[in-house]
Amino acid sequence: MNFRTRFAPSPTGPLHLGHAYSALLAFDTAQAEEGEFFLRLDDIDQSRSRDSWADQIEDDLRWLGLRWPEPVWRQSQRLTRYREALHRLWDIGLLYPCACTRADIRAAAQAPQEGAPLQGPDGVIYPGTCRQEQPSTGPLPDVALRLNMAAALERLDAPLSFIENGKFKQTRMVRPENMVTQVGDVALARPGMGASYHLSIVCDDFDQKISHVIRGEDLFDATQIHVLLQRLLGFDTPVYHHHRLIRDNTGKRLAKRDDARAIATYREADKTPNEVRGMVGLNPPSAS
Ligand code: GLU
Repeated sequence: MNFRTRFAPSPTGPLHLGHAYSALLAFDTAQAEEGEFFLRLDDIDQSRSRDSWADQIEDDLRWLGLRWPEPVWRQSQRLTRYREALHRLWDIGLLYPCACTRADIRAAAQAPQEGAPLQGPDGVIYPGTCRQEQPSTGPLPDVALRLNMAAALERLDAPLSFIENGKFKQTRMVRPENMVTQVGDVALARPGMGASYHLSIVCDDFDQKISHVIRGEDLFDATQIHVLLQRLLGFDTPVYHHHRLIRDNTGKRLAKRDDARAIATYREADKTPNEVRGMVGLNPPSAS
């Protein structure tokens, strides 16, 4: 298998140390494996994505010494592809339209005697308000669409698993019972965005023949959703490596708005790329 990996930032803010670590780790691993490294831009959320952030991110990555093949894939240019994947799931009766707002979901999920509603990888677990007895039919509507998780799991003919190559090197089984109670009916299409993060990333990784996904352990819980979607869509499952997160001095995960740790700030302070590597615990690049 050819080793192919990627770094897929959302151009919604500056590249900070946490992103730099993820990108450098993926790039270094591709070099060590004599494989390929791709940059992709996850700009599916056009309300938050900015070209100026995309330019800055590319510039910072080049400064760090990263190189990738052009053209860089942008999710905003692949909406037809995502619609096609949604169509496949719709045609087998696994999607349903959902008109709930975030506030509706919170209100419906809030059982007064049980305190705060359960959180899944996408926030509050959907309480099932719009789920129907019968699968939706007819043309694919351009509205928010949710995956009927129980129906999707029923279609599986073999257990779901993936190979985790990060901190825990092992085959990870996806537990169907957890998928219903701890993940729920995830949104796969959002109004105004076409597809959701989960659907688009799964299509992108498959179409780009990504063999190894290297990303932060904050996305570990989302991986079970991706593995399920890959199975439903007939896609191969890549190997996953969920890496440690870079935290600030107080132990908090770095956020996009954390400008103090933006790569641009280090550049302005005349730090070198190797000093940035050192800050995240990576060695200078090998000479090759
Ligand atoms: N755009 C996503 C993020 O920045 C990428 C997630 C992934 O690598 O799968 O979190």
